[in-house]
Amino acid sequence: MPKIQNFKMYINGEWVESSSGKKIQTLNPENNEVWATVPEANEKDVDKAVQSAQNAFENNWSILHPRDRAKYLKLIADQLRENAEHLGKIETIDTGKIYRETKTQAHYIAEYYDYFAGLADKVEGTVVPIDKPDMQVTTTRIPIGVVAAIIPWNSQMLLTAVKLAPALAMGNTVVIKASELAPVTLLEFAKLIEKTGIPKGVINIITGLGEPCGKALTSHDLVERIAFTGGPETAKHIVKNSAENLSQVSLELGGKSPVVVFDDADQENALNGITAGIFGASGQSCIAGSRLYIQSKIYDEFLDKLITKAKKIKLGGPMEEDTQMGPLNSFKQLENIEKNIKATTDQGGKIRCGGERSSVSNKGYYFPATIIECENHNLPVAENELFGPILSVMKFDKEEEVIKKMNDNKYGLSSGVYTSNFARGIRVSKAIRAGIVFINTYRLISPMAPFGGIKDSGYGKEAGIESIKEYTRIKTTWYNSSDKPMSDPFTMG
Ligand code: NAD
Repeated sequence: MPKIQNFKMYINGEWVESSSGKKIQTLNPENNEVWATVPEANEKDVDKAVQSAQNAFENNWSILHPRDRAKYLKLIADQLRENAEHLGKIETIDTGKIYRETKTQAHYIAEYYDYFAGLADKVEGTVVPIDKPDMQVTTTRIPIGVVAAIIPWNSQMLLTAVKLAPALAMGNTVVIKASELAPVTLLEFAKLIEKTGIPKGVINIITGLGEPCGKALTSHDLVERIAFTGGPETAKHIVKNSAENLSQVSLELGGKSPVVVFDDADQENALNGITAGIFGASGQSCIAGSRLYIQSKIYDEFLDKLITKAKKIKLGGPMEEDTQMGPLNSFKQLENIEKNIKATTDQGGKIRCGGERSSVSNKGYYFPATIIECENHNLPVAENELFGPILSVMKFDKEEEVIKKMNDNKYGLSSGVYTSNFARGIRVSKAIRAGIVFINTYRLISPMAPFGGIKDSGYGKEAGIESIKEYTRIKTTWYNSSDKPMSDPFTMG
């Protein structure tokens, strides 16, 4: 029986249990065994975290010079680079994502802190060309206050960085709520934060359930900004909660991202891009390219090649070097995938590879790379976000037809186009209604490239130069430059 490890939350620079003493048990997706416990924060703990963030905001962080704030961001980046292997290991046990990817990602996330550190002293105000001769009007960007960051279980280091780094750079303080499905990675990250010596209360990391913890945080009176990443149903709760404190909200939600392969595409490139897009991270990526449209002339040939490639993907333990796909994160996800596949085959969908729970281990949540041909894209696996390695494939003839089909889904996060015709690439990318379009590539991120969706995939952009402004408010200042006293308001003329 492996030893169960106990982790504490990080509030006001201290390591604490929840005030109720309650704990959440967390499972290792590789073997379905409890490997750690974390505190289950309640309203009282949330209040303590928010009060400490508010105190740090008022008395310290918001009045520090941006360059001094930037120094701490750089120290966080250094810590991430030095501890990428350790964090990667923890994230792999926590989420089931393969170690090769979690380790590399933890290292790369440092770039986000460096990028926003560089921007900290470059956000300028304006002088307004005002229509009143004796007045000068300026605008300045000021910090918002306490930011609540709600993080899902997947890619937590990245999804924390795109919120935390710009928020800190602009002088805000932050309370981060980790997901109850994989809460340990961020608590280990808190240990690195502590090592930077950043003032107490500037960053607080808590663990708890959606309710009461997430609810109490997003509706807390002192919270002024909510940055949420997660599913669309949870997002509706978040928006309702924000009615309590009238805070500014950004939402990064799910996707059912369409990818098209035209008959003139470089097939080897398309095969690699599509495989990375849907089978990378076992399909548990918000930008997973899960709806594939193949032009009829190459349909059979291309699909056969894709199936051959998918069948070769090595499913296995996430720590093993040669594993290409690890387990899913939870049993609930596995069951939801099975339910959608059954409903699809009942309506005529044809499983071409995978489709059934894998026997890699009878304990872990393993599901193989799966390809399902669908007569139309209204079948469940082609319409719903599954957050798993399930690719739905449809045939099309004409460019205008496929554009309509690609846009016929409630989500609008990402999309992909494979063609060697430059003009067509431009036409299709302009017509797709999505926040991100990849042309002849897929699944790339950068601190410099804005990320985020439209339609039911949410609003607000993370990463990129503009995103830093989402953590500021504009203050307008009027200066009277006249030597004469102001006229009496009650005397006309
Ligand atoms: P989820 O919506 O179930 O949970 C996300 C977070 O919200 C968790 O921390 C949870 O505790 C919290 N939460 C739940 N109920 C709450 C409430 N009432 N008030 C406040 N907080 C509450 O999502 P998940 O299953 O952890 O993650 C998967 C989803 O996230 C998928 O839909 C995926 O597409 C999406 N996602 C989006 C992006 C993006 O950038 N667009 C990135 C990664 C994941």
